[in-house]
Amino acid sequence: MISVENAIQIIKKHSKISSNYSEKKLEKANGYLLAEDIIAPIDLPPFNQSAMDGYGLCLSANLKNQNKFDIVGEIKAGDTKTYHLNKGEAIRVLTGAPVPKSVNTVIMQENTLLSNDSIKIKEEITPLKNIRLKGEQVKKGTIALEKHTEVNPAVVGFLYSLGIDKIKVIQKPSIAIISTGNELVESGKQLAYGEIYESNSKMLTSALYNLKFYDVTVYKIKDDYEDTLSTISNAIKNHDLLLISGGISVGKYDFIYKALHELNVSELLYKVNQKPGKPFFYGIKNNTQIFGLPGNPAAALTCFYTYVNIALQKFVGKSEIELPRKKTSILNSYRKKGNRSEFLKANYSNGNVTILEQQGSAMLQKFAFANALIYLPEHINFVEINDSVEIILLPF
Ligand code: AMP
Ligand code: MG
Repeated sequence: MISVENAIQIIKKHSKISSNYSEKKLEKANGYLLAEDIIAPIDLPPFNQSAMDGYGLCLSANLKNQNKFDIVGEIKAGDTKTYHLNKGEAIRVLTGAPVPKSVNTVIMQENTLLSNDSIKIKEEITPLKNIRLKGEQVKKGTIALEKHTEVNPAVVGFLYSLGIDKIKVIQKPSIAIISTGNELVESGKQLAYGEIYESNSKMLTSALYNLKFYDVTVYKIKDDYEDTLSTISNAIKNHDLLLISGGISVGKYDFIYKALHELNVSELLYKVNQKPGKPFFYGIKNNTQIFGLPGNPAAALTCFYTYVNIALQKFVGKSEIELPRKKTSILNSYRKKGNRSEFLKANYSNGNVTILEQQGSAMLQKFAFANALIYLPEHINFVEINDSVEIILLPF
């Protein structure tokens, strides 16, 4: 059986970045990555701009020690008129106002003494103070933001300040969730004996929405081979990623593995030496990546975080494609029952991690309180209180 580390490497290697771009209104593009470099269409700031409420001074070499200046006018933010000052003159400027070329420095108003039409300066005068120089943030024609920058509120603000309102972004994947199982019943209906409520498709949809993947279509099928074949075959034609829930184990009515082979999906891995989540499949057909997830809910969610997430992040162009990991000390002792790698639902707080109760692969109640998974690789069989363990931080 393949190891967790190998499974991760295989997914990293075979998952692909999207080859499609779409144009988006900037404020609706949070979480997307830029599909191309953005070249500044203007200088920023577009003119020399006052950073303070104060006075702009026109200095000359021999007036350097002068500290009394005649005030010749006022410029506030938004004024478009140009001014010329002679040496020894001052002009009142407000924050954001255009600073005339003839002004060498701006003195904060708190450091001046006003009397009638002149000011005295209470500080040592140094050139170029409190002026945001034209183009000092970014120069027209240079790269304002590089391709693959992730759009966030600061990016939106920055690009709008350059007058840009639309951008090309790397397209997100179209994702199909296929839920399988004869026993599954929709919420709102009465359960008959032997039936359970279908929950994986909702849980996986929620996990995708949480990571800002919204193009999600859910298909539901019974444990029926023909239905399985046709649903998967159509989904491969219409989606970039398939998340199939259940039916990937070796039971008599688990048809997924057989169907994927009949549909000529290239198998890249099947079955990982881990708990929970052993019956896990990853393969590709054409450009569609196919994940066979265990039906047990906690196992499915664990495989989503550790494996599916990698392909999702890579697809949209991210460079950090795995969930963050860190070493931290554990507040329980724990002994494994076998030699599989284990992912334990856990709570990480104040620099320590605690194993939660109910680790069963079918159990989700305590997963609700997990913000991390403890990863115990194959070679670690037990841990003592205060041992250092590796945790994977879950995305919330
Ligand atoms: P399977 O992998 O199909 O053998 O399913 C393993 C376990 O997960 C069984 O107890 C199923 O009833 C349960 N299960 C499978 N699919 C779902 C689902 N979509 N929602 C909730 N439980 C499921
Ligand atoms: Mg099943």
